[in-house]
Amino acid sequence: MAIRGNLLRTIVLLLSTRLPFVTSASATLTTCLSSANLQPISSSSSDYTADSLAYNRRLSYKPADIVFPTNEQDVASAVNCASQVGVKIAARSGGHSYAANGVGGEDGSLVIDLKNLNSVKVTASNQTAVFGTGIRIGDLALALFNGGKQAMAHGTCPYVGTGGHLGCGGFGLPSRLWGLALDAVIGAQVILANGSIVTASSTENQDLFFAIRGAAPSFGVVTSLTVKTQSAPSSNVFFNYVFSPLNVTMAVETFLAYQNFGANDAPPNLGMNVELGNGDFEMSGVFYGPTSNFSAVIRPLLDAVPQQPKSESVKTYDWLGILTQLAGSDGSLNTSTKADVSDTFYAKSLMVEENAPLTKTALQSFFNYLYGPGTTTDTSWFILADLWGGPSSAINVVPSTQTAFSHRSTLYTFQFYASSSNSAPPYPSDGISFVDGMVSSITSNMSGTDFGMYSCYVDPQLSAAEAQQVYYGNATTTRLQNIKSQVDPMNIFSFPQAIENVPDPESTAQSAAQRGAAPYAAQLGVIAALLLDVLLPVV
Ligand SMILES: Cc1cc2nc3c(=O)[nH]c(=O)nc-3n(C[C@H](O)[C@H](O)[C@H](O)COP(=O)(O)OP(=O)(O)OC[C@H]3O[C@@H](n4cnc5c(N)ncnc54)[C@H](O)[C@@H]3O)c2cc1C
Repeated sequence: MAIRGNLLRTIVLLLSTRLPFVTSASATLTTCLSSANLQPISSSSSDYTADSLAYNRRLSYKPADIVFPTNEQDVASAVNCASQVGVKIAARSGGHSYAANGVGGEDGSLVIDLKNLNSVKVTASNQTAVFGTGIRIGDLALALFNGGKQAMAHGTCPYVGTGGHLGCGGFGLPSRLWGLALDAVIGAQVILANGSIVTASSTENQDLFFAIRGAAPSFGVVTSLTVKTQSAPSSNVFFNYVFSPLNVTMAVETFLAYQNFGANDAPPNLGMNVELGNGDFEMSGVFYGPTSNFSAVIRPLLDAVPQQPKSESVKTYDWLGILTQLAGSDGSLNTSTKADVSDTFYAKSLMVEENAPLTKTALQSFFNYLYGPGTTTDTSWFILADLWGGPSSAINVVPSTQTAFSHRSTLYTFQFYASSSNSAPPYPSDGISFVDGMVSSITSNMSGTDFGMYSCYVDPQLSAAEAQQVYYGNATTTRLQNIKSQVDPMNIFSFPQAIENVPDPESTAQSAAQRGAAPYAAQLGVIAALLLDVLLPVV
């Protein structure tokens, strides 16, 4: 029997040296995931196409496999399989990445979808909450409020996932009062590339804690977050001012009034933006305070604009009422009540520094562009200029070295966004160049100014180096690369703009050999183990 067993092992070994030529890393990954009871969706599965769809239908990628773990041990098993085989990993929370990074941002990733990790525990007595990162922000907002009238700052769309949102920033209208969503994070559970399950906080794994607050997708799978919550304000004044279609001169003066008001007069409990569209110029936002105080707060702005709004709406809501109002057409905060929508779009951002507001010349060029090419494009577009800074803004009191999100002196953040007219593919051929033109109409007139960009509005047209420069800046990028080399030396958490470690020259050759050998060795190991399992009982 022993001789036959040894003989069989020899046969398996010989066989397995041939098998990698007919077995792809993807198939080996699927085998490993199946062995771990993770029921992978692979390219032959009937659900594969639907499960691979990104929110942004302009982009589509083919993942190696998709898994839906139910707890952090499952996530660790999935990470182990991908690491052994050398397949890159993308965590997916809400799938709303502008670059389809939730499905990897390129072909061939293992997608770890976190939708089953969606529990929330609110402890109102000490104003904290712990939640699984598969929960969407609308459902989280509901749970926080129902758990003791708690709240936190986050974006307006209920369907955005908390994992991606808090991993890059998480701006919402209360952010000038409470900070970005990631500023509320006080602890995280993270699955690292080696499959270990670790905690990160201000006292444990501090470097990792720094990295996951702004650059999370490059560092691991964040399975749960602990946040500091706020008491939900009971009075929230929504306002919207619509200005008549403006000529360039009036538009520039109106925008300058907003810029000056934001820099000098807006109190931190005021969140607001300018929204521009084809023939549209609006200012809207929320005053988190008593209705009776609002008119005095907004008066300096209305006194400064060159013409009064043609229509206005001012209405007070309770907390869930204001969140629902801001959710707009998405309506309900409970995302299980109706299916998510999708869009087909390209977007860019620009962060205007408090010490370098837009010049009149730059604004003239900008509005000339909007009132020229902006009226003839095949896209359906809008621009938001969200106020981030100004007096006592909670976003900017945080030191720029405290989190990987390092833009802590932004006055306002532009989002330039252009969809196909029916939100479905195909994307208009002028779309990308039209959006690029919006941005360059500003930047080409302020050539000495360094503008940052917001990584939550990820721009897939940028190279990795360009992206890291504008999202993080040199100092933060270098720090992140060093942390990456500690926690993910093989760059398993990888996508086109991911932070990569910078290996020292001596270890480069060795690492390359390991990278090449790892998938091969893992395939051999898994296949040999499977064959032994099947054949040994027979002999
Ligand atoms: C309709 C819409 C409205 C938006 N509104 C706002 C807004 O008001 N304010 C704002 O700041 N942003 C806003 N955004 C941008 C949004 O914050 C980002 O797109 C965010 O990254 C989406 O997160 P997600 O989990 O839904 O996306 P996903 O595609 O699932 O993930 C985005 C990225 O994060 C990674 N990731 C996801 N989960 C984890 C995890 N648990 N651990 C590690 N990495 C993870 C993914 O791998 C991917 O790289 C909006 C986006 C859309 C589409």
